[in-house]
Amino acid sequence: MAHLTALDTLDVRFPTSSELDGSDAMNPDPDYSAAYVILRTDDPTGPEGHGFAFTIGRGNDVQRVAIQSLEHLVVGRSVAEITGNLGGFARSLSADSQLRWLGPEKGVMHMAVGAVINAAWDLAAKLAGKPVWQLVAEMTPAQIVDLLDFRYLTDALTRDEALEILRRAEPGKQQRAAHLLDAGYPAYTTSPGWLGYSDDKLARLARQAVADGFGTIKIKVGRDMTEDVRRVKVAREAIGPDIGLAVDANQRWDVDAAVDWISQLAQANPAWVEEPTSPDDILGHAEIRRRVAPVRISTGEHGQNRILFKQLLQAGAVDILQIDAARVAGVNENLAILLLAAKFGVPVVPHAGGVGLCELVQHLAMIDYVAISGTMQDRAIEFVDHLHEHFRHPVRVRGGRYLAPRAPGFSAEMLPASLRDYTYPTGAAWRADPADADPNSTPGVALPQQQEIL
Ligand SMILES: [Mg+2]
Repeated sequence: MAHLTALDTLDVRFPTSSELDGSDAMNPDPDYSAAYVILRTDDPTGPEGHGFAFTIGRGNDVQRVAIQSLEHLVVGRSVAEITGNLGGFARSLSADSQLRWLGPEKGVMHMAVGAVINAAWDLAAKLAGKPVWQLVAEMTPAQIVDLLDFRYLTDALTRDEALEILRRAEPGKQQRAAHLLDAGYPAYTTSPGWLGYSDDKLARLARQAVADGFGTIKIKVGRDMTEDVRRVKVAREAIGPDIGLAVDANQRWDVDAAVDWISQLAQANPAWVEEPTSPDDILGHAEIRRRVAPVRISTGEHGQNRILFKQLLQAGAVDILQIDAARVAGVNENLAILLLAAKFGVPVVPHAGGVGLCELVQHLAMIDYVAISGTMQDRAIEFVDHLHEHFRHPVRVRGGRYLAPRAPGFSAEMLPASLRDYTYPTGAAWRADPADADPNSTPGVALPQQQEIL
């Protein structure tokens, strides 16, 4: 019987700030990074479990240590015990009282728990020979609710209600899985809209997105109102009236400022306005939503745990929920959030981008379609075309749709060469002298002045 022998962590960073990819109103110079974890076993022919927490650079210093601190809860346990009871495993990681004190169930420690839980799902799915979405979709309703922690949820969602939602979705599961494999899942793209891009680049990439088959694009706003009104107009003219145009403020505004700003942007008929204010401000979102209706409000990519999502729904604070695969405590907690959203009839439009977030979150949206909400209506997975080449099983987006992953696992595993070259600060991408860098050999290696670490 195999046992876990190591929880190894790596600090992997990509120098994306050199191109202003990913730049928004709150995050002007992100270096997309993964605090990466590998679960190793004593089975020499068996798989490893890979997972990560996503940060935008220096956060990796802290995040990696937090992941490493969970080692004592993982190493030495039997693989069968963990993969056979992923609900119990998830609860055991959140329940270490000395570490729980740092949250509880929020922030760096919770993201660390999420990274390890997701790595365990990668391991379990590889051992089952299935992609994670399929592994979960093929479980019975009772097996799925056993994965969840209903503590603090039962005033909004009981175990019986969750079972009822899952049982309602049982008929047609096989047909939906077949349809998913055949037709994929809708995507929308944020690639045209980073705040650091010129109007020309925005218009060109927006037109390209439409030509590529995307039904919705998203642009970043929130730095300057006049500039935003202009950029929204540029984007709208580039894509025409029939393509969705979402805007994302990345938490930039106070409540009154959000209302003013959104009123100005409403002329472009936004598909939704994302993260208008602090991710923790449930009543603020409710107030903004009430005052700008019928403009739709969304948030969730920085939502710290299932309790916050419960309250967003209870308060009628959002029209759309946006889960993130690496922010909360892994697959298990995201399943609870998907079930909450189904209970309240709110569509989930997952957040992705960064490095690896598209790879992970596609599985969750697909579980929602096959086994929970049973619909793709009014839903799409965010897609940003960055850094997929570093993954062993990168996302495949064709004609504006995510093709369902078929490889066993959670699509989380990076290529060994990428792990080596982008390890911070010793990997080749970080050691290169910018003056000598060949831009054709290692994209993004020419670092701006403030990023030099030589
Ligand atoms: Mg966003």
